[in-house]
Amino acid sequence: MKLHNTLTKKVDEFAPIDGKNARIYSCGPTVYNHAHIGNLSSYIYADILRRAVNLAGFSTEHVMNFTDVDDKTIRDSRANFPDLDPMAALEKLTRHYEKIFLNEMAQVGNDVSKIKFVRATENIAEIQDLIRKLLDLGVAYVADDGIYFSIAEYRKARKYGQLSTIELPAEMQSRIDNDEYDKASAQDFALWKRAKDGEPSWEFEIDADASQLCSRDSVDATKLSDKIGEKEAIISMLGRPGWHIECSVMSVKNLGQPFDIHTGGVDLIFPHHENEIAQSTAGDQPETYAKFFVHNEHLLVDGKKMSKSAHNFYTLPDIIKKGFSPLDFRMLVLQSHYRSATNFSWENLEAAKNRLKRWRNVAELRWQNCLDGADFSDPLNYLVLAGDDLLNDLDTPNALKNLDQFIENVNATNYYNNIENFIKFVDENLGLDLYNTTPDITNEQKNFIKLRETARVEKNWTESDRLRDILKSQGIVLRDEGEMTIWLRV
Ligand SMILES: [Zn+2]
Repeated sequence: MKLHNTLTKKVDEFAPIDGKNARIYSCGPTVYNHAHIGNLSSYIYADILRRAVNLAGFSTEHVMNFTDVDDKTIRDSRANFPDLDPMAALEKLTRHYEKIFLNEMAQVGNDVSKIKFVRATENIAEIQDLIRKLLDLGVAYVADDGIYFSIAEYRKARKYGQLSTIELPAEMQSRIDNDEYDKASAQDFALWKRAKDGEPSWEFEIDADASQLCSRDSVDATKLSDKIGEKEAIISMLGRPGWHIECSVMSVKNLGQPFDIHTGGVDLIFPHHENEIAQSTAGDQPETYAKFFVHNEHLLVDGKKMSKSAHNFYTLPDIIKKGFSPLDFRMLVLQSHYRSATNFSWENLEAAKNRLKRWRNVAELRWQNCLDGADFSDPLNYLVLAGDDLLNDLDTPNALKNLDQFIENVNATNYYNNIENFIKFVDENLGLDLYNTTPDITNEQKNFIKLRETARVEKNWTESDRLRDILKSQGIVLRDEGEMTIWLRV
């Protein structure tokens, strides 16, 4: 199986480190609102990756985190539940949006049963352990408003910026407490943020020996030293974790280090993934954090970046409201390769919907008495080709083209024997749920078809048309092919 690796910047041969089981970590959602369709497309690609690894013959262990404490979850939980205590408000808001997220994941065809979900707030002790370790190693320092990772110290032994080309100033001076900075240059980032008034927070005790207070910011260090009693060399910093540290902790805790594949959108390359690597490879930790980094491109709306201010910001409910199904959206996403930008437009979504409808109509043929027809050699070949496409760096657009070819051949030759294989292939590898979305028609409808055939044989056109119209009103159209009649759902 071939996969593009952001670490090497090329398409490499992929096999799990242990030869059998691929351990995959995907950066999950911040659960404070509906995921937008760009986020959902990223998780669709992660799901396709997991399926392709399975198709290649490897088992998988897939972990995804819920960021359930950060600036946005805190802000919105306080605004929504001002009467609850900060921790209860945070839990109430984030659990609510977790449920919505899981539901939307399933709706767009992602198999959530294959993913282990983990929460930042349930890994605070482990997060604190890693921060203590980074302090011990001398790559973290204590400041007034929190604990920071020192990129300058890290760079003495390791390369910072393994995925991206970012500017590294000779002197690292600046630091930032905002998790989602996306400046072109690296800055020391918060591992732990001291609590502000009314914020949910956890007690964090750290040894206050000199090495841990070797802040570049000498004023901060002095202030903190003043607070420490002679006998008790422990300081406590009530607060909460920064964003980057949770992924370092939860990936390695669940998957070991190094693990096989780390996924995310290209927007996460810097700073998030660079910082994850730095946190997990500092000092005496293993040199490699993850063997492969797989990043998907942005989803664009009408060719433009999606943003609330541009009024082109959509969520799944917006799509459903317009009469499309979540699986129509999945088809649209699969029509683009994960490394090129998916262009979302209502027109493209309509095209994806029509394609899915054609596929469903073929899947419906399995219920019909229309097997065997012209000689069609090796119809399964297109399924094999589509499988090869998926193993070739998740080439979904070409896989879809090969499946279209399969369908064209079925329609051209009336050779229907491989439809079960087609359905199985599509559902297992693309998650389009053809099997469940193409049920048989009712016995009454079957009976109408039989009666109509009889009427046709007797040249009773009035009766034949009447029965055809009844079926049409129920969403079933009939196509006469010589001796046989095929029904299709519209
Ligand atoms: Zn992450």
